Parts: sequence; structure tokens; C-alpha cells
Amino acid sequence: MRILFASSEVFPYSKTGGLADVVGALPAALARRGHEVLVVSPWYATLAADPPPLWIGDVDVPFDGSVESAGIGTLESDGVRYAFVGHEAFRRDGLYGEPDDVRRFALFTRAVAPAAERVGFLPDVVHAHDWHVGYLPMLLSHGWHLPDGWPGLPSAFTIHNVQHQGVSGLDETIHWLRLPQSVRASGMDHFGSANAMQAALDFAWRITTVSPSYAEEIQRPEYGYGLDGTLRHEAGKLVGILNGIDGEIWNPANDAALPAPYDTDDRSGKAAASQALAAELGLDGDGPILGLVSRFADQKGIDLLLEAGTALVASGWRLALLGSGAPELEASARDLARGHSGRVGLHVGYAEPLAHLVYAGSDALAIPSRFEPCGLSQLIAMRYGTLPIARATGGLRDTIEHDVTGFLFDDADVDSLLAATEQARIAFDTGRASALIDAAMRRDFGWNRSAARYEELYEALDALRQGGRA
Ligand code: ADP
Repeated sequence: MRILFASSEVFPYSKTGGLADVVGALPAALARRGHEVLVVSPWYATLAADPPPLWIGDVDVPFDGSVESAGIGTLESDGVRYAFVGHEAFRRDGLYGEPDDVRRFALFTRAVAPAAERVGFLPDVVHAHDWHVGYLPMLLSHGWHLPDGWPGLPSAFTIHNVQHQGVSGLDETIHWLRLPQSVRASGMDHFGSANAMQAALDFAWRITTVSPSYAEEIQRPEYGYGLDGTLRHEAGKLVGILNGIDGEIWNPANDAALPAPYDTDDRSGKAAASQALAAELGLDGDGPILGLVSRFADQKGIDLLLEAGTALVASGWRLALLGSGAPELEASARDLARGHSGRVGLHVGYAEPLAHLVYAGSDALAIPSRFEPCGLSQLIAMRYGTLPIARATGGLRDTIEHDVTGFLFDDADVDSLLAATEQARIAFDTGRASALIDAAMRRDFGWNRSAARYEELYEALDALRQGGRA
């Protein structure tokens, strides 16, 4: 089948989080299974492509009552084709966080079909990811200003995080997207505002999210961020499919960022990674290392870990913290590290090779998330023989087996986190941890199983289309 992925980020070209990893890995897994995949993504000023994409010309994008011109760049890698959409709106320092984000990604959404047409790709199925391209299923189902062959194409939409929804004014959004007024009465209207994610939930033929537990949680008010009602209404077309990790990028037996390779048969290289990590972050003495690789956001429960920091150090842990994000969390992480020199190491920033070293060199990884759609860091940690200590929510609950491949705790509070780390510390002190590490490393979190589930979904959509669903 011909499958089009539309996403605001794709590893290794652009990344702020797990969305990039998924869109970077799933298309290659589908290509290996014999499908033709085109990934359409913005051509950011910061795009990490060397050599850069090949510019093949401009396309007209219907937008804002008129037409905008966008440059299309292509490249091919691992059997997957990429079309990058270049426009002044994407020539900024970062990917997100600008006041005009919803408008910029509405423009990108409008550019997806012309970009694909420009490279001669007419999909059988369109798979859109997160709010940035949330209006794509709606455009397809109505067919306004689309190339020939596009109106009525089946669409799947994946929720990677329901907290971020792309909210804007109804009138302006209808104008940007060049829609008729009749669309006001559709799912794009969420209590009087335009909501890109709700529009996707309404118009996509199928909705997926990235773990079975999260699929259930987001139908409840505590996790639904105002869309729980819509999700309950659309539950019949919602399914949770776990993410995988790319076994070539995340492989302790062949990882250039580590001082020595290791695997389940011989884990001695893990001790070398611990030493290198300790040296890198200025840790001294003994004691198990509790790592962290995360965005510093409220969702991730970083505040809980930092609050627990002094007690963790007192009970013998060393901390290896890597992350960046909310300034107040960065500041308290710096305070903690200053107060416990030699026991708490910190790198504020986004650092790919250091992340590999933290995963490999730590004994356990802290993931005290308040909610976690799937989470990739626990999967990576397990593959590197590092036991996740995580809150039992979303994909963490679905992928970590308590006291077998890691440790889970129920409540998002400091005491629960400390109790779980204490269980882990005892496992390390008594030598019991070795069996857990072995079990964690042997779990298969590769993409193949999930790719097969997506394949079934695309086939079901194609069959529906043949049967005249549209
Ligand atoms: P989310 O998408 O919510 O940020 P995930 O666990 O799904 O969380 O994915 C996070 C991804 O980003 C992982 O690949 C993780 O290794 C990476 N990552 C997060 N923070 C950093 C950082 N500071 N430096 C390097 N990689 C990071």
C-alpha cells in the first residue's frame, strides 16, 4: 500500500520528543514489510539533514483566503521517501512555542497534499500525527481545494499527547484553511474555539493512540484535557497500539556513544558506561546511579524527583540528570546539583550522545510521569539493562512489569516515588537486581509487532474505502 505520514517532527531530521522517534521508525518498519511510504514534514531552518533535501520546486498552497508558495525538498533513506515543506513560517529558532503556531501548522497541513502531488505520490491511506496536522482528515473528507484523487481518501489519526490540541479562533481558522462556513457546526468547534485535535477525532476514519492504557485513560476527565467527552463518543474507532524503539539506534551491543559494547551474555561493558557517565557528570564515590532523560515539563513529574533528590542522596543513590524545559525546573535542578556536588550530576540541554550514556551507565531510570501516553525512555532503559522506576500510568503501566523488569508506583507523589526507589535499592544491594536486568534486556520492544498492527489498520481502511465508506 501507499501510506502518507504527515507529522511536525521526524527523527533524525527534527525532534523534540517521542513523536519524532515514532515517525522516524514506523515508516521504515512499514517499508521493510513491502509498503511505499512518504513522510511529509516541515523544512525547518534547523533541519538536521546532511546533505540537505534536494529542492525540486515550489507548490501553491491554498491558504488564508489566497495562495502561498512553498518550496519542496526531497530525500530518501531506509526505503522511505521524505517531502519537506519549506516556507518562511518554519524559518525560526525552534520547532514550537511561537504565538502563531496554530496558523503555521494550519499552513503546513494545507501544504501536505500539494507536496505529495509534487513528488507524484497519491496515497491509499493518510496517517496524520498529533494536533499540528489535525485538520488533515477534515480536509480529506470534504475535499476543498485538494488535488485530483485526494477528496475522500481514508485517514488515520494518532494521538501522541492529548494535552496539546491546537486551539485558535474559529473565524480566523476557517479563513486560514479556506473552508466554507458550514464547517462551523462540525467537530472543529470545541466550546466556541477551533480545536485541531477535536477536528481530527471527528473526521479521521480511525483514531489510534500509543498505548492501550492511555486509550482508556484519555476517556476520563483527569486525563482527557477537555476532550474526554469527545473521546468517549468516538471510542468505537479508537485503539491503543504501543510504540516500539529502533533497535539499531538503541543497541548497547553496537552504540558509538558507549565506551564498550555489552549484551545479555556479557554485561561488563555496562560498568564501563557507568564510569564514563560518572566522569562526564562529575559523580564520585559509590552507590547505584539513578538516571533521568526527559523534557522538563509538568507532565513528567520532574518536580517530584527533584523534591525527592536530597532523600535519594541520603539513602545512597547518585543522580545523573539530563533534560531541559521549564525554567523553574531547570533552576531547581541546578540548586539540587549545587547542594550535592559529587552525588548529583546535571546537564541542562538536549544532548543525544549523553542520553545514550545515561541510559547505559545508570542502574535505574526515574520516570515519575503524571501521565505518559507511551513513553520511550523506559523501553530504551530496559534494552540497556537499566531498570525503570516509573509511575503506573499509560504506556509505562503497559510495558513495565513490576518487580520483574522494573518498578511501578501508583500515586504521583514524593513518598510513592521514594518507596519504589527504596525497593529498587534493596534489589541492587542484595544482588536480586541482576535477574531483573536480564529480564528487562530480553523483552522485545522492536517495531515489527506494532507495524503489523498499523498494517492491519491501513488494510481495514482501504477495504472500507473500496466498500464506499466515503
Ligand atoms: P516525550 O515524547 O513526551 O518527550 P518519550 O519518552 O516518548 O517522551 O520520548 C522522549 C524522547 O526524547 C526519547 O528518545 C528521549 O531519549 C529523548 N530525550 C528527551 N530529553 C532529552 C534530552 N535532554 N537529550 C536527549 N534526548 C532526550
